[in-house]
Amino acid sequence: MPKITIFFPKAGEIAHHGVVQASGAASIEDAVALMESNNLSDVIYSIGEVHAIFTVEDLMKYRHQGRNMSASLNELTHRQLIYVNEGDNILNLLPLFDDGRCRYLGVKNAAGVLDGILSYSDVLASVDPAVMMERRTLADVLGKSRVEMIDASTKTQTVLEQLIYVEDAILIAENGKLAGIVTAIDVIKMIRDGVDMSLPIRNYMTQPVRTITQRATIKAAIEHLKENHFKRAIVVDDHNDVIGRITQRELIGITYGRWAELMKLHAHELGELVQVLESKNQKLQQESLTDPLTGAGNRRLLNQAIEAEIGRFYRHEMTAFSVLLLDIDFFKKINDAFGHPVGDEVLKTLSSRTKRLLRTSDVFARWGGEEFAILLPTADLKAASILAERIRAEIADNLISEHQVTVSIGVAEYQRGESQEGLLERVDIALYEAKNSGRNKVVTAD
Ligand code: GH3
Ligand code: MG
Ligand code: MG
Repeated sequence: MPKITIFFPKAGEIAHHGVVQASGAASIEDAVALMESNNLSDVIYSIGEVHAIFTVEDLMKYRHQGRNMSASLNELTHRQLIYVNEGDNILNLLPLFDDGRCRYLGVKNAAGVLDGILSYSDVLASVDPAVMMERRTLADVLGKSRVEMIDASTKTQTVLEQLIYVEDAILIAENGKLAGIVTAIDVIKMIRDGVDMSLPIRNYMTQPVRTITQRATIKAAIEHLKENHFKRAIVVDDHNDVIGRITQRELIGITYGRWAELMKLHAHELGELVQVLESKNQKLQQESLTDPLTGAGNRRLLNQAIEAEIGRFYRHEMTAFSVLLLDIDFFKKINDAFGHPVGDEVLKTLSSRTKRLLRTSDVFARWGGEEFAILLPTADLKAASILAERIRAEIADNLISEHQVTVSIGVAEYQRGESQEGLLERVDIALYEAKNSGRNKVVTAD
């Protein structure tokens, strides 16, 4: 059996070495030229004692912003590298990526010099069995065990008897060098052909032997076996000397066995890893349903909530629910007169004041620019109109950042058989009527 070495890789082992560095005074253009000539998607530059990374993503962002490409890297918002040591176990590095700000690590060598770059996906990939199969070579997993070979001058009869006991293939050597192989299939052929068992095996062995280099990856070795319909790979070193043999089952076992071992050894860290990934996932999901400016839900959240409410409507006793659609009156004027930042403040304040009037079960969402929608899961048209009127009055009666702001609100109660689109269309028409009949009003849909 091959000796299997099991461990998580160290930062230095999976880092991209040969860091290409630019000076901080270099321009974006220079950085791009460096990336191009080195075929890299990022380049490192130093700001004083520390290093920052400039990536293709940054390039696209700055181009999109219409930034001058001759601006120097020093002038940009730096994405500073966090340093780790080449000997650090990658599992311990995962938490560094937690807050989402850090995406790259700088790997320092024993002398404390920046020697490699590691991205979040590099770290994650290194604990993935599929990637492990691509990274680890046969040399990594094969111990230097002595490989038994039988001399080609041995009588065929003797070789076949041996084969019964070892049940795998037998390697045949000529002058100590691999010359042929005898497998179960060869035996069947020999018996069928009625060969002379007293002759040396060199007459009947299969040759030449297809070997595979120890430099091949586990993945390549598995493919080699599959393509040739071999049961085992004969592994040779750089001098073409046989250093081992390994079966497909062993190869796959190594990868998964390594995983199983990792799980056992690192159950604690893996538990943490799962937690990290889960909370990250939760955060992403939450972000995808939240409006960043006001912290209210977004359109997607409201669509989901209404859809769920419609489902509940038919499953349960058809309790009424309603939707409000709120639009700020003459909002453009606020932007025009006082600027966008003031407009943004108004949106935030209006949003929090409205939210204070709602129940926790109500769903409040920013529907678009200065429009908000509210799902009221237990309110019929009357209750919803009362709440809408309270919101309208609260906004109209209290200045926001010293400005008088008013809103128009449409109200609609869900009608049996209606689709989400139908409901939203009716509430939109009600809002339109509120606008047309003077604004700062609540109008209910029929
Ligand atoms: P009315 O609804 O009463 O008819 O008039 P209005 O001026 O509010 O009308 P309209 O819907 O045409 O204009 C909405 C404006 O809201 C236009 C847009 O510039 C502004 N707006 C949209 N989103 C934002 C935002 O996130 N921040 C700021 N400051 N303004 C925004
Ligand atoms: Mg408006
Ligand atoms: Mg509008």
